[in-house]
Amino acid sequence: MKTYLLVCIFFFSAFFATAQRTEFFPLDIMVSAKMETNIFEVPFSEKTPFYTVCLNLENSDLELADFLIRFSKDGQQWDDWKPFQKDIHGDENKKISNLLYADADQKYYQIQNLKKNDLYIRLDLFNPAISNVSLSNNTIQREDCKHPPFKNRKDWCTTCTPGGSVITTVTHLVVHHSAGVNESSDWDAVVRGIWNYHVNSRGWDDIGYNWLVAPNGTLYEGRHDNIQGAHYCGKNGHTMGTCMMGNYMEIPAKDTAMATLIKLLAWKADVNNIDPLGSSNHPATGGNLKNIIGHRDGCSTSCPGDKFYPVLHSFVKPAVDDLISNKCKDDGTDPDPDPDPDPDPEDDFYQGPFKMQPTLVKREIKFYSGRKIIHPISVHIVNMVGQVVLTKTFTGKYDYFEGKVNVKYLPAGIYYVRLVYGRNEKEFKFAKI
Ligand SMILES: [Zn+2]
Repeated sequence: MKTYLLVCIFFFSAFFATAQRTEFFPLDIMVSAKMETNIFEVPFSEKTPFYTVCLNLENSDLELADFLIRFSKDGQQWDDWKPFQKDIHGDENKKISNLLYADADQKYYQIQNLKKNDLYIRLDLFNPAISNVSLSNNTIQREDCKHPPFKNRKDWCTTCTPGGSVITTVTHLVVHHSAGVNESSDWDAVVRGIWNYHVNSRGWDDIGYNWLVAPNGTLYEGRHDNIQGAHYCGKNGHTMGTCMMGNYMEIPAKDTAMATLIKLLAWKADVNNIDPLGSSNHPATGGNLKNIIGHRDGCSTSCPGDKFYPVLHSFVKPAVDDLISNKCKDDGTDPDPDPDPDPDPEDDFYQGPFKMQPTLVKREIKFYSGRKIIHPISVHIVNMVGQVVLTKTFTGKYDYFEGKVNVKYLPAGIYYVRLVYGRNEKEFKFAKI
């Protein structure tokens, strides 16, 4: 017999809930020297959209890199061996791997031990259960900027009890990525997976983040507002942690998720009087810190991903600033904004009448004028490096003008608009998301 195994389950438990029948199995497994184990079948009895696995080597002198895992649908055809890697959000001295996601039909797994001796490891398996379909529209409104609708805790989990009781006054907004899956049919279940990982594997008292944003734009309540989280280099006081779910090391974040993030940050910056483009003292760090930052601005980590981190500073922050400057009225969600019914009579005839909406744009920008138009109107859209990327001319005579320019296919970024009417020009700015 080439391989042998001895599986000792010191602690075996499954937590069942009435609504979501999640199951958590912390398994202590003995793995033989320089061998792969026999084939294990996942222990779940309930249906699942996927399951999560992490290797927990806390309280041992073992290294994550000494072990590999692979998955199979039938126990015969196997995926490639996967290494366990360090969780980028963990404490330096804790040896808990990143969270691996396996499809529900991968019912079998196997561990390989690269060390020269027999030893025990702990493997955490979690079935997040299939989500109930729930539509939530929870919002919080305080100042001008409305909180974007979100799923609160009971919407995404009926059994994930809240922890985290330290109230904090937020001065800094920290953005992360989860370094997890970029596609899922059940984002509620992914949030439950992260909650279980933080609470039952990492030993935190609740999910680490205050908010989580799914790639489809759905916003999830984590620890909620003004509760100190566990996400920022051990210096969590005075921060709000928002996690962009997905891995943005090699692919960019989706527009839908960016739009939700921008609205969330605008709401918090507005209500707490935080300058999105500024810096201020961060007491927990003991120094001056930009008010909106990525995780890697505080300590050595790849979070929030090479493809997202530059965009956070170059695009998200100016877009948040624009949104607040505009009292969050033009966030691209108003399907039929009223044109200016009463242009300022002090305005110059040619420059004054033109208005542009919105300033945070997904598909098209609209121009309005309440005055009679007798000359052609040219609209030039210019990118950040000064190149004209789109031009449109409106000809004809109008008693009342309303023109649209489709910007759907422009890359995300900040753009300037030069509107030329007769001998006069007017400039606008918008953020394409
Ligand atoms: Zn992070």
